[in-house]
Amino acid sequence: MNAFTLNRRAVMLSAVIGATSTFLGGAAGVVQAQTKTPGSGNIGHYRFRVGEITATVLSDGVIGGPPRIYASDAPEAELQEVLRRAFLPTDHLTLNLNTLLIENAGRRILIEAGAGGTMGPNAGRIFANLAAIGLDPADIDVVVVSHTHPDHVGNLRTADGTMAFPRATVFVPRADWEFFVRNDPDLSYMPVPEDFRVRFGAAIKHSLEPYAKNVELYEAGAEIVPGLSTIAAFGHTPGMANFIVHSGNDQLLLTADLAYHPVVNVDNPWRPGPDRDKNAALASRRRIFDMAAADRIPVLGFHYPFPGLGRMLKTDGGYAWVPANWQF
Ligand SMILES: [Zn+2]
Repeated sequence: MNAFTLNRRAVMLSAVIGATSTFLGGAAGVVQAQTKTPGSGNIGHYRFRVGEITATVLSDGVIGGPPRIYASDAPEAELQEVLRRAFLPTDHLTLNLNTLLIENAGRRILIEAGAGGTMGPNAGRIFANLAAIGLDPADIDVVVVSHTHPDHVGNLRTADGTMAFPRATVFVPRADWEFFVRNDPDLSYMPVPEDFRVRFGAAIKHSLEPYAKNVELYEAGAEIVPGLSTIAAFGHTPGMANFIVHSGNDQLLLTADLAYHPVVNVDNPWRPGPDRDKNAALASRRRIFDMAAADRIPVLGFHYPFPGLGRMLKTDGGYAWVPANWQF
């Protein structure tokens, strides 16, 4: 081990410790205030159409952590270089939370609930963004989540322990409910400190607890409502699904957490550390990215830079993410 290696290891370690405190943030299993500081005043909603369906990306804000968590098998020097070339910080990767509202035949369906206060102080904006388009949580008829990680279910519970979307039927993948809610899973596969894992597991149960009596458990492959079907994308979690919003000849594919950030998990093939079954996750990623590329389907990446819309391009060595142009 030479001086360079030692130095690099020391830098890595301090980066992980420094950023872990941010990553851990408010992951106390308690949803905190639902309205956050207003920030710059930039909008956090983006409307477009899928055939007859009106679709609106509603941002819940951002989470993030050490890049290493999201690119678990990347050689350190390569990871640093890739981040630098993408003009990204090398010690912290920011992940967006792009929930999607679809309105079809008089029903409002929210796909993913967002993190709320479960994963740091920079999320929980979905309620302000709903209000900005003239809607209230009571206007939501259905909430569907791809899997039950806290950044997808955190907003389901209010600070006083009631249902944040009081009229909504909540759909959760059956295998995730069994794994995370009914049981006490061994989360040692996650490359985070033990106290984080404990809070992560508790936040899932806590967020879903108000819905325990009337949750709708679904199997991947089910059509949730007309115009919204699910496809199996197991690996990241036991039950993770992807979604296809469809109307006439138009489609939109929601890839949930097949990839965290396009720079490390699409443009580079590195594996997300929180994938429970890394080989199954890789197979799902390839199968679904191949389909998206072959059929040129518009894609929404839940954690990609807002609004997260674009297309998947097949390259010689893998894939490339091509963001969509902004539409006014
Ligand atoms: Zn996620």
